[in-house]
Amino acid sequence: MSDLMRKLRSRVGSAVRESWRALIVSFDINFFSQIFIEPCFNLCNLRCPYCPVGQGRQLRDMSKGMMSLDLFRRIWSKSFTAYTGTVGLYNWGEPFLNPALPAMVRHVKENSRARLVLNSNFSWRLDDRVREILECLDDDRIVISCDGFSQETCEKYRVGVDFDLVMHNIELINDRKKPQTILQWQYLDFPWNLDEAKAAEDFCKEKQIGFYLGKGWISPNYPMLPAPCPSDEDQSRCDVFRRSLTVNFDGEVYPCCAFYGPPQYSLGNASKKSIGKIFSRGKGKAMLKYLTFKSGGDDGIFCKHCVEQNTAVLESWK
Ligand code: SF4
Ligand code: SF4
Repeated sequence: MSDLMRKLRSRVGSAVRESWRALIVSFDINFFSQIFIEPCFNLCNLRCPYCPVGQGRQLRDMSKGMMSLDLFRRIWSKSFTAYTGTVGLYNWGEPFLNPALPAMVRHVKENSRARLVLNSNFSWRLDDRVREILECLDDDRIVISCDGFSQETCEKYRVGVDFDLVMHNIELINDRKKPQTILQWQYLDFPWNLDEAKAAEDFCKEKQIGFYLGKGWISPNYPMLPAPCPSDEDQSRCDVFRRSLTVNFDGEVYPCCAFYGPPQYSLGNASKKSIGKIFSRGKGKAMLKYLTFKSGGDDGIFCKHCVEQNTAVLESWK
């Protein structure tokens, strides 16, 4: 690397480190480019074999749950009214099973400038919920999770899927959505479905639907789970949480979308404390210091397990 490049990187690194330091002193929610809020935890209509939800595993020490609209509104007003980043209203479950989802979408669109991403297997009968959601969405995104272009192929992973119903729903949403709302087909590649990826992609091209071929995120030994990602810019231990901070259905906040506990690793509850407070003191602040300023950390910080052993997620799946 040339001296000039080294100097430039060092300057960028200092600037980024300053922004992390500023976050501890004076919090700005827009430090996070993306957050996830979970409407429906550990409930799904499908039975995907590599997914702990689909397999009905006990996730951390609780079984299942849906976020109530009241809780969602309290969380939103505490932390997110000034948020302009991206909010994923999904995580570990089928979000459309929560009947409050349309009202959550409406609340976000009426009370902030945040962009939404919704994700579903769409193997269920569309009803008024979808009409209401499509009315509210603007330059937001709807992602369809479907990994095949026939019933036979698709159901190898999406066990229980009704492929014809998914296709019917895709066409219907595509017809009814606003032009600025992006519809995207997410096709995870598996050895058995690559032959059909081209047909799915061609269909999307014809219908002007986005197509994303996922790079085998899900496999039997779960390499899909996020690994610490040291930042090139500032040499922090990991900056994944800046695009993956997660509020679970009960309001507990975790650093990554892959984590849902165990609860002793919660950074705090977003219905009781603002995200600003969570990161200005206590575990959130300790986490920032551990990742950015490379403090020793302690065992109560989830990221420390993740950085040192990269096994924290697997432990939480046991
Ligand atoms: S559709 Fe998603 S949440 Fe449901 S079982 Fe499959 S991977 Fe899991
Ligand atoms: S848990 Fe922490 S260290 Fe691990 S990937 Fe997420 S943000 Fe990075």
